[in-house]
Amino acid sequence: MTQTAPLAAVQPENLTATPPADGAPGPTFDSMNPRTGDVVDTHPVHSAEDVEAAVGRAREAARWWGGLTFDERAERLLAWKGVLTRHLAQLADLMHRETGKPHADATMEIALAIDHLHWAATKAEKHLKRRSVSPGMLMVNQQAWVEYKPLGVVGVIGPWNYPVFTPMGSIAYALAAGNAVVFKPSEYTPGVGEWLAMTFRQAVPDHPVLQVVTGLGETGAALCRADVDKVAFTGSTATGKRVMAACAETLTPVVIEAGGKDAVIVAEDADVDAAADAVLWGACSNAGQTCTGVERVYVHERVHDEFVDVLVRKAREITAHEGADSHIGPITMPKQLDVIRGHIADALDRGGRALVGGADAVGDRFVQPTVLVDVPEDSDAVCEETFGPTVTVAKVRSVEEAVDRTNAGKYGLGSTVFSRSRGLEIAEQIRSGMTSINAVIAFAAVPALPFGGVGDSGFGRIHGPDGLREFTYAKAITRQRFKPALPLTSFDRPDDTDTKLAQIMTMLHGRGTLLPRVAGRRKD
Ligand code: NDP
Repeated sequence: MTQTAPLAAVQPENLTATPPADGAPGPTFDSMNPRTGDVVDTHPVHSAEDVEAAVGRAREAARWWGGLTFDERAERLLAWKGVLTRHLAQLADLMHRETGKPHADATMEIALAIDHLHWAATKAEKHLKRRSVSPGMLMVNQQAWVEYKPLGVVGVIGPWNYPVFTPMGSIAYALAAGNAVVFKPSEYTPGVGEWLAMTFRQAVPDHPVLQVVTGLGETGAALCRADVDKVAFTGSTATGKRVMAACAETLTPVVIEAGGKDAVIVAEDADVDAAADAVLWGACSNAGQTCTGVERVYVHERVHDEFVDVLVRKAREITAHEGADSHIGPITMPKQLDVIRGHIADALDRGGRALVGGADAVGDRFVQPTVLVDVPEDSDAVCEETFGPTVTVAKVRSVEEAVDRTNAGKYGLGSTVFSRSRGLEIAEQIRSGMTSINAVIAFAAVPALPFGGVGDSGFGRIHGPDGLREFTYAKAITRQRFKPALPLTSFDRPDDTDTKLAQIMTMLHGRGTLLPRVAGRRKD
């Protein structure tokens, strides 16, 4: 087994990208510190040829990696987990410099990713290994198994807002399932991507099982066309459509983890203090740049005013500034400032009121928390992803109205319910991939749960057993144990075979209901 080398040499200036295919220096781009505008590092723009070469190397590596036992892969992935954990502070600092996010946000993100890596490595065998299934009454002479086999090479395309947690939701699960990975990080966080690949090489130096290609959107587009066996994309809905279109050319399957407009429902029996606290954090942590961030809140009229009072009081204590003690970091992507400014302006123009923040909340780099009320349901601030530390709050007459308004949106990623007695009942009515009750975004931190959305939030799942199987294909095998009483798959069968089959079918299915005896014994 590979020994993990000490990582004294892991310094950002040592980060090396996958070299261009011909070894010649190619074009480069800079990653910038959004707090200061300083250059963090310079990275190659990998061309389509470079990407194809990386995928070619990955294909070789996938043969080796996919041929290991689950235990052998787990041992290596857990060695990587150890490297990540021991160098958590270093990675957090690099994330802080590339995205501007506070160290606390970065540290929490890495901690969750490490937990997921552990789960994927140790649970892959349980969920993917060959298992026998009931062959059913008609095929009782057969033994039947299903197993989940690696696809080969998975291309992962990641965003900048959670540059570790989000791509690791695909990378860790794809690797644990036996695939090699070529990862294209966002152009805003290439150093974080390189760091992940470099630390993986420390734990698994034998073959290039995890590689990183850097560049702009074109590099991501090249990865879609580089003959990978699946693309796991996380990013905006608009780019997700482009990724799907490119993958359609080669029938390459895709996972699309796209944007969201997550709602919180506060019922009349909610713990109002806890709900306001959670809404503020859900809306403003990571400067609101969270796919499952809280963007709109529907509050029962009986607790609305109390909720708004607490939220406003708490929101006024939170500020975004350049100091190290700032609760909120800068907006990582400068062009997002215009989107946030536009949504606030539209809301105010159309009769909305800002109880905290407002038109002046959007600065050159930082956006102050903004709480909007009386905003029309068809305005951008309610319908479109704002991706800033803003939230709309609306009064509703009933939980049913809150559910209707929540479900009216085109996105369906996450959601939250605050209710002491009706949480589960309300959660089940919401059309979203995930719902947390009495806490925000808790679903993302439970490795056994699938993560993903419906509607414009995309499809496919990362995390949990579904996330492991997303990077596999199901392989079905049967073995005949003894000759069947009715030789159905032979031309040389007795004349009364069809009659007997019809009699058996009538006995088994003619009633149109479950046979109690059979129902009790069903395994699958
Ligand atoms: P983008 O859609 O702009 O970019 C995502 C990734 O796609 C980047 O690596 C980008 O590269 C790459 N890319 C751009 N163009 C193409 C193309 N034509 N073909 C292939 N790849 C391409 O999203 P952001 O990076 O701005 O991320 C924010 C978005 O991500 C938000 O909408 C957020 O909701 C969503 N998100 C969703 C999550 C989920 O799990 N559902 C989790 C986290 C974020 P480059 O950066 O170089 O342009």
